[in-house]
Amino acid sequence: MTFDAPESPYLVPFDGSFRVKDASTTPITKGHLHRKKHRKEATSNLNKLQRVLAAGDRHSVLIVFQAMDAAGKDSTIRAVMQGVDPSGCQVFSFKKPSSQELDHDFLWRTTRSLPERGRIGIFNRSQYEEVLVVRVHPQILTAQKLPGEINLDTIWDDRLQSIREQEEHLARNGTVILKFWLNVSKDEQKKRFLSRLDQADKNWKFEPRDVVERRHWDAYMHAYEQALNATSRPWAPWYAIPADSKPYMQARVASIIVDALHSIGLKYPTPSDEDRAEFESARAELT
Ligand code: ATP
Ligand code: MG
Repeated sequence: MTFDAPESPYLVPFDGSFRVKDASTTPITKGHLHRKKHRKEATSNLNKLQRVLAAGDRHSVLIVFQAMDAAGKDSTIRAVMQGVDPSGCQVFSFKKPSSQELDHDFLWRTTRSLPERGRIGIFNRSQYEEVLVVRVHPQILTAQKLPGEINLDTIWDDRLQSIREQEEHLARNGTVILKFWLNVSKDEQKKRFLSRLDQADKNWKFEPRDVVERRHWDAYMHAYEQALNATSRPWAPWYAIPADSKPYMQARVASIIVDALHSIGLKYPTPSDEDRAEFESARAELT
């Protein structure tokens, strides 16, 4: 595989040793002064790299964002992709599945939204919801039209295996996969919910259901730990990014994406002898 998972203190190890309780929600590295400047530099590099990605038309880039509510998925996507050619990227948000989606296996809807070669695809929530919200609320499974008896002792590992194997297949075929868990603390989430209640321009973001969902915090943390350990692999790494400081988080995400694109050695395609001959006849035609 041509892709190296960028080094980072937030890289989730590939051996199953990741523990949510040890993952920091606040910055653990220095260099977060001038965070906005770092992020802007990374974004401008990303814009250049995306153009070469498009010209090469071989790789695609899939970036997955998962997080608890109010961790900052939307603002991170906005900040990181700012300035990137809109025709070279696409963002999909996955909400509760529709009845058409429930008529298919759980990987169907995300599979049909995967980025084409040459493009950057962003998933705001993803197939991972099937081992996160559904694991926390297994009663959701009854609407999924699964054949036979549901075995709650095996279904989550089975699903994680399906996800892991699909990612390996995609990586072998040219998809660069990066996955970010925006790790916000329970206290910071509370502050952000309160500011949605207090500030008029944030009221629209307030969702009473999100506050109720907070009761299941520990169950979510358990589900995240299982999911990240089962699916952080060299070809599809997870990064657990501290999310209590948004500028820091955005800078870290942007620079990991840039490092990953650097590591695949993107180059503008070089014309073949045949292409050059065609260029010459085109030149003759134009003179
Ligand atoms: P925002 O609140 O910022 O607009 P969001 O991603 O939270 O964005 P919502 O419409 O509030 O969007 O919530 C989407 C909900 O859909 C989440 O609670 C999520 O857990 C749920 N969801 C996503 N995928 C699935 C799935 N496969 N099965 C069940 N629920 C899902
Ligand atoms: Mg929401």
